[in-house]
Amino acid sequence: MTEPIESFAALNLPAPLLSALAEVGYETPSPIQAACIPLFMAGRDLLGEAQTGTGKTAAFALPLLARLDLNLKAPQALVLTPTRELAIQVAEAFQKYAHHMPGFHVLPIYGGQSMVIQLRALSRGAHIIVGTPGRVMDHLERKSLDLSNLKSLVLDEADEMLRMGFIDDVEWILEHTPAARQTALFSATMPDPIRRIAQRYLREPEQVKIRSATTTVAAIKQKYWQVRGADKLEALTRMLEIEEDFDAAIIFVRTKLATVDLADKLEARGYAAAALSGDLTQGLREQVIDRLKSGSLDIVVATDVAARGIDVPRVSHVINYDVPYDTEAYVHRIGRTGRAGRAGVAILFISPREMRMLKAIERATRQPIEPIALPTRGEVAERRVTQFKQQILDTIAEENLDFFYEVVRRMETEESVATRQIAAALAFLAQRERPLRPDGMEDPVASSRTESPYAVPSRGAPSRAVPSPRGESSYAASSAPTFDKPAWSERSEAAERKPRAEAPKRAFSASGVTVRYRIEVGKNQGALPKEIVGAIANEGGIDGKLIGQINLFDDYSTVELPELPNDLLETLKRTRVRQLPLRIRPAAPGEGEKTFARRPRADEAPKARRPREDEAARPRRPANADFSARPKREFSDAGSGGNKPPYRADKKPAGTKPPFDKPFAKRKER
Ligand code: ADP
Ligand code: MG
Repeated sequence: MTEPIESFAALNLPAPLLSALAEVGYETPSPIQAACIPLFMAGRDLLGEAQTGTGKTAAFALPLLARLDLNLKAPQALVLTPTRELAIQVAEAFQKYAHHMPGFHVLPIYGGQSMVIQLRALSRGAHIIVGTPGRVMDHLERKSLDLSNLKSLVLDEADEMLRMGFIDDVEWILEHTPAARQTALFSATMPDPIRRIAQRYLREPEQVKIRSATTTVAAIKQKYWQVRGADKLEALTRMLEIEEDFDAAIIFVRTKLATVDLADKLEARGYAAAALSGDLTQGLREQVIDRLKSGSLDIVVATDVAARGIDVPRVSHVINYDVPYDTEAYVHRIGRTGRAGRAGVAILFISPREMRMLKAIERATRQPIEPIALPTRGEVAERRVTQFKQQILDTIAEENLDFFYEVVRRMETEESVATRQIAAALAFLAQRERPLRPDGMEDPVASSRTESPYAVPSRGAPSRAVPSPRGESSYAASSAPTFDKPAWSERSEAAERKPRAEAPKRAFSASGVTVRYRIEVGKNQGALPKEIVGAIANEGGIDGKLIGQINLFDDYSTVELPELPNDLLETLKRTRVRQLPLRIRPAAPGEGEKTFARRPRADEAPKARRPREDEAARPRRPANADFSARPKREFSDAGSGGNKPPYRADKKPAGTKPPFDKPFAKRKER
């Protein structure tokens, strides 16, 4: 490699772009930008491999803008992205960089937005289209999108498009665009199917690979907590309280149902939290991300797909509440923090059985992941007291308290009570809704602290190294307040609350009967076990853990599941994988003998390619049954949002706000 490129000007970008870059505050090109921009401007095909957060968007957006003919109001470039969030984000980036290019028009098109609006926008004309594969295909088929002037095509996050089953659509689009186009493919990883696409559709591509020791992952501190019988929700809330420099978090769970469930529980505990899943209408999803950006939300509970590509710099923490399916998903998840040069923290909840995944992640990120212990209630109390004291000091420093001095002075004389008594009573009143003594908190099984080989003492918490029957005694003896009430009798409290905390998500999971079901997709249809798991988990709201062995046969598969109630069976019959309804039913004896790994590598190739005709005659799927090769996001629409339960993503926290305007979890005030 040559000298590192110091400035965007050295890349021969036109002046309007340089001024826009100065305005957004980019000083130097990132490595992938420095490598790609000159090649792109020279018209070369590109194969770019770089982790999330390395600046891939500008790497293709800037040269596309530099070569644009503003006088030709027809799509000259098409960018394909796996999700609508990403399509919007990329379109916004174009807009930003083109700030000084009057008349420039970029149009995002994605499923879930009204066709009418899109058709109108398309007919008005745009220079650049950013879209998800399904919707772009729709418009090409309807001839509402004319790509005859197309000069460049960019595949952004190609590996994710593969993971989501869009790769056939992408190929279809590649075959229906002018052959003379320039093509660039960007991907965080290069699994074989992506390589094959590159070989087939790119002309002598220049390969640009940025080593994964990128700033982003390096800027993220990775930790894990071993889940040992303890309640994950309880652990989560304690961690949120104790974490240093907490600003905002994205919490990853596996199912749509879990996003809503956990977001509700966090909201009930005073956090400004909302769910983000493929179930929300487009408007609501955008609202959730905007609210996270603006600070009216601090926590978003999301599925992998829904959170893909979100770029909100204030996200300080990523919590892997449910383990990711593979290391790539993990890398994508944690890439939601450590954005724009900030520090980030990633916490992984992992069970002893899943320790192999931890090792795999360490290898993939080339970084150790450090074990953390569950914060004790004592530590939580200490943190709350510290924050409380700070709020008092801030109030003294900033507010005009004359009137209140007078109230206190009168009370001292009239009631002959001491200032300290008054202060203590006020402190009591002020903390009532969010007690300084978090005795509503269960201390999960003491053994998780004492027996775990991974429990490490941190932040000076000797109480954990020297467990006492009362658990918190050494804390009580240390700095913060000693509480007159006997320390929390954790065993009895934990025992009382346990059943609620571990209540199964759906009643059927308690029955304990496992049934082998037959579904009508198999190897010949290109079904992947993880797609089957995804479809069943998402549409059925079934915890992934309850999905047992999956056996793939040529034209059908079998799946072991807890016995399904009828309504759920009906839903799953209509659920689609690879666009085919599962038509699930109990398997006949003898059906389903062969074993396959349930979770193959993400880059595993679909076994068979769908015939074209079938793609063209693609059925429109019903609104509520279509996690499939091309998930609902592509089709669900405006109209269909109406019959979904009213998710609370847009709900303001209930009227039970603590008297302080921010929960204690937030420390960022000053
Ligand atoms: P990727 O697509 O590789 O995941 P993005 O294009 O989303 O990465 O960029 C990640 C973040 O870095 C964005 O917030 C973007 O604005 C910022 N960024 C990109 N290039 C630069 C640069 N040269 N200097 C400073 N920030 C940049
Ligand atoms: Mg990107």
